[in-house]
Amino acid sequence: MTLESDIERAAQLILHAWHTVALTGAGHSTPSGIPDFRSPGSGLWEKVNPMAVASIFVFRLQPQAFYDWIRPLVRLMLNAKPNPAHRALAEMEEMGLLQAVITQNIDGLHQRAGSRRVLELHGHMREATCIRCYKVVPARALINKFLADGQVPVCEDCGGVMKPNVILFGEQLPVRVLNEARREAQLCDLMLVLGSRLEVAPAADLPMIAHQHGAKVIIVNYQETYLDPQAEVVIHADVAEVLPRIVRVVREDMARAR
Ligand SMILES: [Zn+2]
Repeated sequence: MTLESDIERAAQLILHAWHTVALTGAGHSTPSGIPDFRSPGSGLWEKVNPMAVASIFVFRLQPQAFYDWIRPLVRLMLNAKPNPAHRALAEMEEMGLLQAVITQNIDGLHQRAGSRRVLELHGHMREATCIRCYKVVPARALINKFLADGQVPVCEDCGGVMKPNVILFGEQLPVRVLNEARREAQLCDLMLVLGSRLEVAPAADLPMIAHQHGAKVIIVNYQETYLDPQAEVVIHADVAEVLPRIVRVVREDMARAR
């Protein structure tokens, strides 16, 4: 199979599906300059083990260590722009061809590209919660202050440490979001796996759930995944290059059909 025929096949699957869901992982945002801190050689994060520093246990004992680690990442995320893959998904939703985006990313780039229905499995940076009194506040002001002075943000009510609403290692995923994502996986008849190596459960299980419920699966990812043998189309390439091409074929076919 050539890349062209894979793209054509993917476009046809999208055109003929009635309920399509996308699952996006770190590889969807690396073209926006956000490193995948789980992959080797990602520079800034090579010296420390993210599993250790980005865990809820470390956060409770040494919040400063966590905040020192995440500071450059937060700065990158705030400066990052949606890439053509983010825009392609927003366009698909706009055309009525995509019912939901399920993401493992915390960068908010899908929403900034215009996607409306986004299920954020690992949380987001828009809010922060006090780990002592559970007060929830918008995170923007806290983040700006923290980027300027590097100090651990504290609750204005009780002085407790504020934690961004991202899911750290050792924490439960947000139950309602996860349940909704599982429902989408059971309901869809086409799932796009985009820039995810499908290594982190439970997100990694969602395409298998979809497959077991009869959905077809399209995978666009640099590396192989465990689900490649079950997928209808597998493209090992940059999602920011391939997905816009697929959506262009979809758009042209729809224009021809009118
Ligand atoms: Zn508090």
